[in-house]
Amino acid sequence: MTMNPDPKLQSVIATDDQYYLQAFGRRTPLCIDHGSGVYLYDTAGKRYLDMIGGIAVNVLGHAHPALTAAIAEQAGKVIHCSNYFYNEPQARLAQQLGDLFGDGRVFFNNSGAEANETAIKLARGYFFKKGQPRAKIVTAMQSFHGRTLATATATGQTKYSAPFAPLPDGFVHIPYNDVTALEEAVDDNTCAVMLELIQGESGVHPASIAFVDAAVAACHRTGARLIIDEIQTGVGRTGKFLASQLYSIKPDIVTLAKGLAGGVPIGVAIANQETATGFTPGDHGSTFGGNPLACAASLAVLETLEKGHLIQKAAGLGDHFREKLQELAETSGQIHEIRGAGLMLGIELKEPIAAEVKGRCLDAGYLIGSVGTHTLRLLPPLIIERAEIDAFVTDLGQVLAEVAST
Ligand SMILES: *Cc1c(COP(=O)(O)O)cnc(C)c1O
Repeated sequence: MTMNPDPKLQSVIATDDQYYLQAFGRRTPLCIDHGSGVYLYDTAGKRYLDMIGGIAVNVLGHAHPALTAAIAEQAGKVIHCSNYFYNEPQARLAQQLGDLFGDGRVFFNNSGAEANETAIKLARGYFFKKGQPRAKIVTAMQSFHGRTLATATATGQTKYSAPFAPLPDGFVHIPYNDVTALEEAVDDNTCAVMLELIQGESGVHPASIAFVDAAVAACHRTGARLIIDEIQTGVGRTGKFLASQLYSIKPDIVTLAKGLAGGVPIGVAIANQETATGFTPGDHGSTFGGNPLACAASLAVLETLEKGHLIQKAAGLGDHFREKLQELAETSGQIHEIRGAGLMLGIELKEPIAAEVKGRCLDAGYLIGSVGTHTLRLLPPLIIERAEIDAFVTDLGQVLAEVAST
């Protein structure tokens, strides 16, 4: 990665160094100014093809006219009114999400972690209300469920929770895709099994069908609630509205966030009727959750996805992307494995060069993600087109060749 000489960037970095809590450390040296479609522009005017999409958030890219108009129109009416009162965008979005899930009931939050907190509380509340409280929640190692205390504890990576002990009780972690461990862990004291169908944050690792089927069966056997965290896989990312549809399963609770309002903060837990009995009036709440601004933005996202057939397109684009990457794997010899579904892709490299490849892609005008030393992560907006994917794969080949020759 070459030094970025942008003076605005240097001044923003200096201010961040001094004032921002150093939870991110030094970030990618890029100060975003604005975006348009699949492109982002930095404060020096350089254009980048956005292949990370705000980590699966910007499903409609940047400054999409339909989303921008919906936000502006709602902002001109009312942004917030509290949940003391009804608002129509909230009711309409609840209906659409409940129907997409299938006879579901929803609760809105402002983020993924909060949606998972809602799911955890709802599952515990469900058994409490039945007069048979259950504590245990089984989750997978290498999972990612958020940064609040409960969701960081649910997350199967101790680096995210250990410094913040004491942690909430009841969370048990099993190896991902280990059917036997799952069957042994889930018992009559198990309140919920909580899983991602494709682990995103730890490097795009799909669940095996056998593992998911075993989770469904174990929940069926014990009555435990199946919570599927679709915060990253949901909203069309994998070529279906929910990745649960790829696995032909119907969880008791699904959580969504990231792409749901195209960048306006929102989170939702959607539960079936039975599980929804876990909350009665007064049990849960959120000041901002379900506010008309976020809900209007989300309604515009869902309408735009539908009108443009963008979810079906994401499935086709994902297949095309994988084929192109597979060809590159054969010609370059540097790619170990390509994983994922739809427009959620991980490229595992043979050598520990992920950070260097990411830096050179930045120089070449592409924003990509990396996980650890070996994996590249791609989560482009669903409005991306074939020509942009093809250009990226060609230039990634160039970058891999450069890195190989150094
Ligand atoms: C991003 C993510 C979360 C956390 O969402 P936040 O909005 O950052 O709280 C939880 N689960 C999964 C699978 C995620 O990808």
